[in-house]
Amino acid sequence: MLDTTDPASVDPAIGNALPAGIHVTMVSGNKKTGPITTTRTQSGTCPSTCRLLQEGACYDLGGRSRLHRDKLDRGAYHLWSHEQFFSLMACFTRVWRWASGGDLPNDPRHPCDGQTIDKAFLVRMVRKAQSLGQVPIIYTHKPIFNVSNAYERNKRAIRAAMKAAPKVAINISCDTLAQVDRASRMGFNTTVTLSSDAPSRLVTKGGQVIKGCPQQLSKSGRRFTCAEHCKSRNGLPICADPDRGYTVGFYTHGNKTKTYSKLLKIWNQ
Ligand code: SF4
Repeated sequence: MLDTTDPASVDPAIGNALPAGIHVTMVSGNKKTGPITTTRTQSGTCPSTCRLLQEGACYDLGGRSRLHRDKLDRGAYHLWSHEQFFSLMACFTRVWRWASGGDLPNDPRHPCDGQTIDKAFLVRMVRKAQSLGQVPIIYTHKPIFNVSNAYERNKRAIRAAMKAAPKVAINISCDTLAQVDRASRMGFNTTVTLSSDAPSRLVTKGGQVIKGCPQQLSKSGRRFTCAEHCKSRNGLPICADPDRGYTVGFYTHGNKTKTYSKLLKIWNQ
């Protein structure tokens, strides 16, 4: 039987497309995150419901990120099994970034659809991070809205993780302002993609405040990283603070900026 947590386990029918493990960079050279541990999972963990993916507008589909994404999918990077990953966590930097590409591992009972969160993995990861005093930056685009049969399972998984590690933020990546309102009403931390010319602060129809990512708003040329410069009122990188009290907005950028910005404006009317 296929073991989706074992990097050596490859389904002969679909090659290396399954989320077989986790790639870890102990100290990243990424200009945005700063010198912290980052992880990456295979593109098969990305849900097909993600509009950024559907429109080809995800940052991970272009530039250097795309090179890493493709190399990982081709098996050019080392992947750790889940057990190995949990052991390795003790060596991570205090602030670290979950899945700079890819998403949370898929539920082993539904390994191929990319939609359903592996609840046991998520709960164990956040619990361990909190017990180690770590500050992980976590986002997921796995669906929690009624676009997939997986949404109830995902909500349960995230709620269980929030209960297991209340100091850890698990951000629901929203595609629209309406989704921000819905996810916020459900009690989740949220981020949202904004058009490239959106203001630095806006309020949704439901009253949820959105503030633009300060790294993206910082003047070009000024060095600003999640790990070193971004601070919430509680002194944490904003995306890692479950008590920050607002949604983080990310301005769409890259090849599809114009097209995707137009779409966002239509969706958010
Ligand atoms: S809000 Fe802060 S932590 Fe989040 S992505 Fe921007 S710089 Fe990084």
